[in-house]
Amino acid sequence: MSTVDKQLEGVKATIDDVVPRRISISDVTYEGPELVIYTRDPAEFAADTELVRQLASTLRKRITVRPDPSVLTRPGDAERVIRDVVPDDAGVTDIEFDRETGEVRIEARDPGAVIGRGGETRREITAAVGWTPEVVRSAPIESSTVDNVRSFLGQEREERRTILERVGRQIHREPMSDDEWVRITSLGCCREVGRAAFVISTPNTRILVDCGEKPGANGETPYLDVPEALGSGASTIDAVVLTHAHLDHAALVPLLYERGYDGPIYCTEPTRDLLGLLTLDYIDSANADGRTPPYDSEMVREAIKHTITLEYGDVTDIAPDVKLTLHNAGHVLGSSVVHFHVGEGLYNVAFSGDIHYSDTRLLDGAVNQFPRVETLVLESTYGGRNDYQTDQNDSERKLKQVVRDTADRGGTVLVPTEAVGRAQEVMLVLAEAMREGEIPDLPIYLDGMVWEATAVHTTYPEFLRDDMADRIFDADENPFLSDQFHAFDGDDAERESIAGGDPAIVSPRPGCSPGARSDRGSNTSAPIPTRRSPSSITRRRGRRAGASRTGSERLRRATAAARRSTCRCASRPSTASRATPTGRASRTSSTR
Ligand SMILES: [Zn+2]
Repeated sequence: MSTVDKQLEGVKATIDDVVPRRISISDVTYEGPELVIYTRDPAEFAADTELVRQLASTLRKRITVRPDPSVLTRPGDAERVIRDVVPDDAGVTDIEFDRETGEVRIEARDPGAVIGRGGETRREITAAVGWTPEVVRSAPIESSTVDNVRSFLGQEREERRTILERVGRQIHREPMSDDEWVRITSLGCCREVGRAAFVISTPNTRILVDCGEKPGANGETPYLDVPEALGSGASTIDAVVLTHAHLDHAALVPLLYERGYDGPIYCTEPTRDLLGLLTLDYIDSANADGRTPPYDSEMVREAIKHTITLEYGDVTDIAPDVKLTLHNAGHVLGSSVVHFHVGEGLYNVAFSGDIHYSDTRLLDGAVNQFPRVETLVLESTYGGRNDYQTDQNDSERKLKQVVRDTADRGGTVLVPTEAVGRAQEVMLVLAEAMREGEIPDLPIYLDGMVWEATAVHTTYPEFLRDDMADRIFDADENPFLSDQFHAFDGDDAERESIAGGDPAIVSPRPGCSPGARSDRGSNTSAPIPTRRSPSSITRRRGRRAGASRTGSERLRRATAAARRSTCRCASRPSTASRATPTGRASRTSSTR
């Protein structure tokens, strides 16, 4: 019997001691960092609210309780029961069953009404159908990326469970060495901008933090072949931790799977979805530019399949001697300062990733309080001798002035911004300025990538500032549903009509602006080029989430939307196909 199996036997014995005899336990297993307990009495388990807490504190592990598959009501019948139990004013928009986890995901406009007072309605659902409800708020703007990633993970659930069990055994293996040291190796991003990648090593463990591209440098990857990284074999890396989904930190994560890595990626849920969006677009952009992409869409799917998402503040075992906690970095949606607690916690290392200290319109400022940090690895892109942070009010004032001056001359304002993060901040500034009458009311045309990234933002309001999340769920207040916003794609005729049309503001993909490919390339305080040749334009109004969707309908719409989101710079011919995380939807795409 392996040491992990022996350890699990001990865990089972403890669970038998703690759990009352009337609740039957059918299996106990590690799945990724979690200890999963399967029970034939999920309702009784759910009713005893203290039981899981007691188990977690006795076993000192993250515990998930799942119903044994034998007690689950058939999904069709279960859906009828759930719709009956949940009050109508909850506004349920979608119900999906995940046989792998025994969870039923209930999307509703008012999640509180599905959960009920003190969790009463949720417990009633479990008691009636056996499934464990996961209740989420319906996003006000549908994201094809999020739909795609979730349906892909659903399709791959059996393989994913195999992966998670393997990762779980790796995490809970016995340490091989009693030595105590920690070493950090830089694989890029020192004395240069871009290709962020570090390895943190202990005598038992190797963890890669980020794997980014070097903007503008064709083919330069981080130094992955050094002995601390892939040079000793891909299997020597225990885990990849991703701070955030910007190309200079994340673009080459799928390359690791091309190079034989087969382990987990830890990040937040929005970072996972944005990673899919950005890396597929990265492949498309390389193909459109006549470059060979360093990996294909299959590797993006591998990366998504191996991702384990964590919430801010969760303390998670990711190796026998390392725990990981992610904290808000304030930089972009889902961005994290990653904190490693090594050994018994006497040595702690934090990697900042890109950080933003003060609150922005979208996000709270970075967390900078930790119980302990012995080593801090700090991003310093804007930390050069002559660098300074422009005043936000000053930058916004200049932006509005440029818009006014350009509109007066009958021109079109081109605002090339990073699709994730800065574009949404600029959208908020422009929408507010129009509402306040500070700039003229002009249509704002958004690249499909920008619109899709915006939709991902509205899917994860819990990662935004509270006041922004509140506004997003008020249909009259949601700033991203402002009538001025129109998404465009690669239709040349519509590009022409915008180019020759009335004054407008256009936010093309950042590739249109040399040097703006990474988040650090564009800056709203810089003069904004004004020209009359914007990218192609197709009006695509904000799609508001509504009626429930079947799986195939969802997939069809997601694929169509993903294709629509393909946009090219003005001079580039449009491409009609686009890779999606669900390979099944687009095996004919040109990215292979
Ligand atoms: Zn960044």
